[in-house]
Amino acid sequence: MQYEDILSKRWDTVIIGGGPGGMGAALYSSRADLSTLIIEKQFVGGLIALTHEVENYPAVDFSSGMDLTQKMEAQVKKFGTEILYKDVQKIEREADSHDFLVNLSDGKQILARSIVVACGSAPRRLPASGEEEFYGRGVSYCATCDGAFFREKDIVVVGGGESAFQEGLFLTQFGKSVTLIHRREGFRATELAKRRARSKPNWNEKTNYTVEEIYGNGTVNGVKIKHTETGEVEDFKTDGVFGFIGYEPASSFVSHLIDTDEEGYIIADGHCRTSCKGIWAAGDIIKGSLKQMVISAGNGATAAIDIREYLSEQDD
Ligand SMILES: Cc1cc2nc3c(=O)[nH]c(=O)nc-3n(C[C@H](O)[C@H](O)[C@H](O)COP(=O)(O)OP(=O)(O)OC[C@H]3O[C@@H](n4cnc5c(N)ncnc54)[C@H](O)[C@@H]3O)c2cc1C
Repeated sequence: MQYEDILSKRWDTVIIGGGPGGMGAALYSSRADLSTLIIEKQFVGGLIALTHEVENYPAVDFSSGMDLTQKMEAQVKKFGTEILYKDVQKIEREADSHDFLVNLSDGKQILARSIVVACGSAPRRLPASGEEEFYGRGVSYCATCDGAFFREKDIVVVGGGESAFQEGLFLTQFGKSVTLIHRREGFRATELAKRRARSKPNWNEKTNYTVEEIYGNGTVNGVKIKHTETGEVEDFKTDGVFGFIGYEPASSFVSHLIDTDEEGYIIADGHCRTSCKGIWAAGDIIKGSLKQMVISAGNGATAAIDIREYLSEQDD
């Protein structure tokens, strides 16, 4: 569909975010013959597209996140979902109407009868000096995207959760060494993830350290790490720093209309309804979400089924 045609249409549902949550919503809404538009600011697939192995999605034995989400994309398109690559800046209520205006980064607006916010969360950047300077030049938040640049190099992974171990494990196939640096003694990762990473001969761990500074000369040469108990600062040579210290919800474009918690996660009920009639939420952006693909896709389906009823009540 041409951009002008997308702009001139009044959409039954507009879904912000093309990750598993958005895809789940699009599948159920377009298959129910609702006109459905996904607006995605980067690439379809969302966060899962960045991971190299998925083995916990029903009927999928093993797949890269990218392959899996490409199949999702083909499936939603088959039922008529349109995908538009734009950044959503703000959502407003249209005056004297139940409809919404979705404001895009190019200043254009899209008219929607209902909205699904499925915009997930973005990786939290490392709070170390030098992070900005070396971002993309040794500092990364995506092992799948950047791991291969670190063949036979020394790599640092920062974090202590599932992603840190899972993505660190992936990096062991490239790096001469992979050293996980974590600010505490204990880890939130599962035993399985820890066992797999620790089985690799080039895997190391340094606990009770924070990364204070990332330094180098054009690209990363090392980090300064500080012991959380003694305060002692150590120099640690490395060629790359991968951060997996959590995620930040991307709801600021809609938080003036709906209730969120203090971090920006959206408060939604069992039907994925938000506090604003006509706006639903799906996936990682929901407060308390278990942050798994199957949950996000399920939320999307729940929202779309509820939207179908909401729109048919409006039509009556
Ligand atoms: C390293 C890693 C490994 C993982 N492994 C697994 C796994 O093995 N199994 C599993 O089930 N889960 C896994 N997950 C979790 C899984 O990726 C997420 O639960 C899932 O992607 C969440 O889907 P979502 O649709 O809610 O959000 P996302 O996937 O984050 O998608 C949100 C989309 O919204 C877009 N967006 C945001 N703001 C805007 C805006 N203003 N305008 C337009 N578009 C916008 C983003 O670009 C993004 O594409 C992993 C996550 C990570 C980080």
